[in-house]
Amino acid sequence: MSPVIPIHAEHTPSPGACATPPGALAQVLRERGQHEVFCGLTGIVWLHRKMQDAFFLVVGSRTCAHLIQSAAGVMIFAEPRFATAILDERDLAGLADAHDELDRVVGQVLARRPNLRTLFLVGSCPSEVIKLDLSRAAERLSRVHGPHLRVLNYSGSGIETTFTQGEDACLAALVPTMPDAPDETPELLVVGALADVVEDQFARLLAQLGIARVRFFPGRRSAQLPSIGPGTRVLLAQPFLADTARALVARGARLLGAPFPIGVEGTTRWLGAAAQAFGIDAQTLEHVTAPARHRAAKALEGPRERLAGRRIFFFPDSQLELPLARFAQRELGMQLLEVGTPYLHRQQHAEELALLPADTRIVEGQHVDRQLERCLRNRPDLTVCGLGLANPLEAQGLATKWSIEFVFTPIQGYEQAGDLAQLLARPLHRHALLSAA
Ligand code: SF4
Repeated sequence: MSPVIPIHAEHTPSPGACATPPGALAQVLRERGQHEVFCGLTGIVWLHRKMQDAFFLVVGSRTCAHLIQSAAGVMIFAEPRFATAILDERDLAGLADAHDELDRVVGQVLARRPNLRTLFLVGSCPSEVIKLDLSRAAERLSRVHGPHLRVLNYSGSGIETTFTQGEDACLAALVPTMPDAPDETPELLVVGALADVVEDQFARLLAQLGIARVRFFPGRRSAQLPSIGPGTRVLLAQPFLADTARALVARGARLLGAPFPIGVEGTTRWLGAAAQAFGIDAQTLEHVTAPARHRAAKALEGPRERLAGRRIFFFPDSQLELPLARFAQRELGMQLLEVGTPYLHRQQHAEELALLPADTRIVEGQHVDRQLERCLRNRPDLTVCGLGLANPLEAQGLATKWSIEFVFTPIQGYEQAGDLAQLLARPLHRHALLSAA
């Protein structure tokens, strides 16, 4: 195993209980075939920014190192809190004791970063192929370096997963370490990594609504985990956290049904679900959210003029596709040609499905050839897709938007609704300029 590679050596510029009754009105087509997605290691890019006392050590290959170097290239001037312990030929051939090597590499990390409170050992395709038992390594290293440092493991492997599942796996790994709530006093737990600015906005709005006890998971300090128990009301801020939600419910928490806080409508309904769970009346919700709703509605006016009536096609990639499609259709007047999603968690998406037109073509899973064929036949005005498909589609004369940008960019909440609409409008503008040229 090679020594820790700091991930700033190379720089490649990097490029996403409600009033509506649940009910899957829209049709869902299942497809399975070749898929084109990033792996769960990508989540490290936003998770390490969020948890400022955590370190992510990928146990993987040079390919894994290159992936996060490229994806997080913007971090070159910051002290990185992630790295790759590279499995080399000797490790892969079983000629070296990978556990001894891993212990040595972790020792190097901690010597340079004595203030870390959580170290994640992140598994990859190569570590899974050679069946390197990272849970055993995490237990051993926790014993050696605890209690100041907690060592956990999760898989970021790209086998049969998509890139946002890395966050789900990471948060699910943290759930067993959350303390038990001392009593059953209701507390709201907002789950899903949010940019700090968005977290602060939501914290203010929830406080104004009168919800006194609110925690965010993950928070800025990985060592200060919220407690969990029957009083915990979980409100998902991201649509790709099925395992985390399941683990929280298994600890006694109750999951609130809501659309996701994307766009004015989604944010209002999302806050409404929290308000309802805490017995807050509709007038208070209306009063508290009115100024921000009006600002957001104003910010949407310009983009809506450019986007209304335009046809949009979503390839399955980020798992944000359904909320984005609902926003594009209901708040920007766009026409949905196809909404692909890698996985459809029906319970968590029930409110989103209920808000989509009944004739929306929703595709779960990926058969990239068939989807490309439908996309090229339909000639959408805008295609939201993974990086690997964007250039070929642009070469075919289509305007594209990288779906990963909706994950890297703060898009949740009222104040970000205008920016989100601009993310959709900009490629059309660029395309028009290029066509004219
Ligand atoms: S985890 Fe797998 S898919 Fe991801 S970069 Fe490493 S080898 Fe590639």
